[in-house]
Amino acid sequence: MSNEVVQRGRLVVVATPIGNLGDLSARAEQCLGEADVILCEDTRHTRVLLSARGIKGGGRLVALHQHNEASQVAEVVNRVLSGQLVALVSDAGTPGISDPGSRVVSAVALAGGEVSTIPGPSAVIAALSVSGLDTERFVMEGFVPRRAGERRARFDQWAREPRTIVFYESPQRVADTLSELAERFPDRRVALARELTKFYEEVRRGTVVELAEALRGSTTLGEVVVVLEGAPEALVETSTVEGALRELLESGMSIRDAVTELSQDLGVGHRELYQLALALRDGGSDSLH
Ligand code: SAM
Repeated sequence: MSNEVVQRGRLVVVATPIGNLGDLSARAEQCLGEADVILCEDTRHTRVLLSARGIKGGGRLVALHQHNEASQVAEVVNRVLSGQLVALVSDAGTPGISDPGSRVVSAVALAGGEVSTIPGPSAVIAALSVSGLDTERFVMEGFVPRRAGERRARFDQWAREPRTIVFYESPQRVADTLSELAERFPDRRVALARELTKFYEEVRRGTVVELAEALRGSTTLGEVVVVLEGAPEALVETSTVEGALRELLESGMSIRDAVTELSQDLGVGHRELYQLALALRDGGSDSLH
């Protein structure tokens, strides 16, 4: 697709503002104006966006949400293959990113149809970019699970996750989530990005324990993204080596063989591995010998 023309016969994934309507790009506006059909997460929401830009929705708006996405897929594929311009938007930000859309994209692509992007706002990238944390490598966790067991399992993974961790959280739960995280990763740095691009935009930065303390008992309003520093590299490495060693020893391998194998595989010194193996054995695991 060139800058000037929105070509037909394709599905176009169109990013829309996450708060400030001024962030709708010129290309997005043009595409929404010309599309035969606009697939929307919520047609009322999209109608407000369109009318703010003087674009007529007419009968072009079709709901596509998590409950009907599967059943809409065939219809969307037919439209694209028959030469229509189909735009896909969500309520805010980039469709498919913790929002409906990925199924239709996948189906159109599988059917050999064209899929294009009109990129723009996304809360995850906006928050990461102002977090002040390492942006070189990051992992997007979507919304953290609500159930206690699943949350614990997720936080266990983060204990050894070296990349910056980004997640969405509801304003009602963010204080509790930070308190839980403070028990496990008190000194990691964290940024809380709230109401980005809106009047009350705010980014709070500190250690997890500091922000958990600051939020305790208070009410957070608006939409938030949390950006959490990853695990220190040294910790990640130690745990990985330790885990690998434990696995070999528990499988019945002798300390000598396990040390030889791992020192080759992981490039860790014999002496260091030997000491770690003795510590694991003396740490009381009955199955180690
Ligand atoms: N697809 C969207 C995107 O690309 O930004 C994200 C959709 S997800 C269902 C909505 C979540 O994004 C909210 O619960 C909140 O965590 C975050 N969010 C959306 N707008 C935001 C904003 N203006 N400031 C901070 N977080 C925002």
